[in-house]
Amino acid sequence: MLNEIFKKSIFKIQEKIYSYRNVRLEPSEWIEKNIYLTSAESRYPGFFSYDRSPYTKEVVDCLSVNSDVECVAVMKCSQSGFTAGVVTTIIPYIISETPSNILFLSGSETLVQDTVRDRLDPIIQNSGLSHLIRPNVFKKKNQKSGDTDFKKEFAGGSLTGATYNPRRLRFYSAKFIIADEFDDAPRADKKEGSIRSLLENRAKSFGSTKKICYISSPTVAGQSNIEEVYELGDKRKLNWCCPHCENYIPIEWRIEKEDETFAGIKYELDEEKKLIPESVHYECQNCGGKIDYSQKYDLNLTAKWIPTAKPKKPSYRSYQLNALVIPPGFDSWVDLVYQWLECCPPDGRIDDGKLKTFKNTQLGQTWQELGKTPRVNEMMTNNVRSYDIGVVPDVTCKNDGNGRIVLLTLACDLGGVMETNNEDVRLDWELIAHASNGQTYSVNHGSIGTFKRNRKKTNLERSNESERDKYTYSHGQRFSVWPVLKKLIDKNYIGQSGDAYNIDITVIDTGFFTRLAYDFIKGVTDAVVVGVKGYTEDEYRKLNRDTPVIQRSREMQNSLYILQVNQLKDILASNMKLAMGMDGFQPYGFMNFPQSSMGKYAMKSYFSHFEAEHRVPLMKGDIEIGYAWKKKNSDVENHFFDVYVYSLASREIYIDILRKSYPKYSKLTWDDFVSIVDG
Ligand SMILES: [Zn+2]
Repeated sequence: MLNEIFKKSIFKIQEKIYSYRNVRLEPSEWIEKNIYLTSAESRYPGFFSYDRSPYTKEVVDCLSVNSDVECVAVMKCSQSGFTAGVVTTIIPYIISETPSNILFLSGSETLVQDTVRDRLDPIIQNSGLSHLIRPNVFKKKNQKSGDTDFKKEFAGGSLTGATYNPRRLRFYSAKFIIADEFDDAPRADKKEGSIRSLLENRAKSFGSTKKICYISSPTVAGQSNIEEVYELGDKRKLNWCCPHCENYIPIEWRIEKEDETFAGIKYELDEEKKLIPESVHYECQNCGGKIDYSQKYDLNLTAKWIPTAKPKKPSYRSYQLNALVIPPGFDSWVDLVYQWLECCPPDGRIDDGKLKTFKNTQLGQTWQELGKTPRVNEMMTNNVRSYDIGVVPDVTCKNDGNGRIVLLTLACDLGGVMETNNEDVRLDWELIAHASNGQTYSVNHGSIGTFKRNRKKTNLERSNESERDKYTYSHGQRFSVWPVLKKLIDKNYIGQSGDAYNIDITVIDTGFFTRLAYDFIKGVTDAVVVGVKGYTEDEYRKLNRDTPVIQRSREMQNSLYILQVNQLKDILASNMKLAMGMDGFQPYGFMNFPQSSMGKYAMKSYFSHFEAEHRVPLMKGDIEIGYAWKKKNSDVENHFFDVYVYSLASREIYIDILRKSYPKYSKLTWDDFVSIVDG
């Protein structure tokens, strides 16, 4: 009898579980059974299927009431199938199966409107769910309610479409928050605080039943909203089961293996350094097996999301997706390699702007802003070579595979004070040899004059102050810097080969001691000497602007150039990061320095100057609109960093002078110049 009762109650419980399961299908199951697409919304009309983007299935099921996940973050490439697989499909599911308030957010009103009107509305209509939405009714003041692009009401809740406006957001309350294009949101608001806590507060009253889904391509590291929430989660990566070794491998663009070679996307170039499209494939990081693009669809069907970190809270999940796995019809692997080669061409001239876009929108990775902390220690280890100070390293250059020394430049930075009864100055200079393949070799550096800021003097220097020779920029004086400089300009420089070299161009900073510097420049008739001036140096440089780094000045057509100093410093900072290949290959822009000796090319006297400045963003509200290079503090010395900036400019100026002087070379480039010099 007891047994009978027990059996009965078990049956009842089973029945309950069974019917519960029936009502509460997992979102992905419900979506595949109910969401219907016509050819207007999809290239694959019919019931929605997760077969094309199987990796979105786990994410949409995180939003199920059966899942413990409260916050899910997807840091992804721009074309991904997530809008179709998650955003416009979970909303009808919620409306029909677990009605409650939904807040759908996107980067702009247009984006919200486009998603609702062009994608969500047709789905609701075609899937036979229109009856759930309350029709438009006009309330007082003629305001529409019921069903609009920004508001839908249904039994048990409503859908609100909105932008990331912190002042307006705080009036909403919702159990489900879908935060699309999350990197478009301001990181924080002065009054309302962090955008993330502001959003999470909207759902606070729902406790552990709340569901917040953040989706976005990332932007700059440290500033990206999606990166912040991704880091809180368990950082899942999509793994394929390798058809060769049958191990699950995370699918990444490039993976460094233990032997320091790379797996991931592989390709070959022909003799003209053009891509051989048939060569593009994926190499397994585990077994080296070759995976073909055509295998992608099947590999996606058995793919697994595997966590790579411990989440900050068990209810946090996060996913990262790159364009290697997105369904056919979007960019193929061959398309991706073509884009990659535009960012990182075989000649080594990396295009930072394009590389940033590629990393953000194709690899779903944040971008590390360049130039923030030039790595001087690494440069001292990797870029100091075995040639002597003062000798033009023409043999070293040739042996490095960098071609010939085709240009010798001298750059000067003027410092000091020129006050009545107190003339005390110092001119810092550097001699650079430019190789035909675009690398540089520093030949020598030094200073004319002994000026030092008081606070930087050592005690010994202070006590010897009276014996010091003070130099001046005045002309015709005993300790004038100019005759010493002229000697430097006129000198013959001997190469390792025994060949003699002359300085082709000298550039002098005329920003501060303008008149006295011009007098010198105008007085030199037997050498090319030009003045340079920073383009209003305190001004910030706007992002995404592409201007020439040098421009002829209007006031002094033949002897003054205006420099885009911030842009030149970006170039210098990225050149400083270039690494020599294992085979000794030096990319375009690579900087070589001689062995340190007699206090020259030492950390304190020279290299430390290269880390004296950092790149400071200019913020408007919460958005970075520009930047400027600034000294880290007023005590650091940055002279040789500035001098190197002038050296970079001097090469461009030299080419421009040739363009101006010879009409037939009016469009001369560095490559043209090199081929003319090499005859
Ligand atoms: Zn394998």
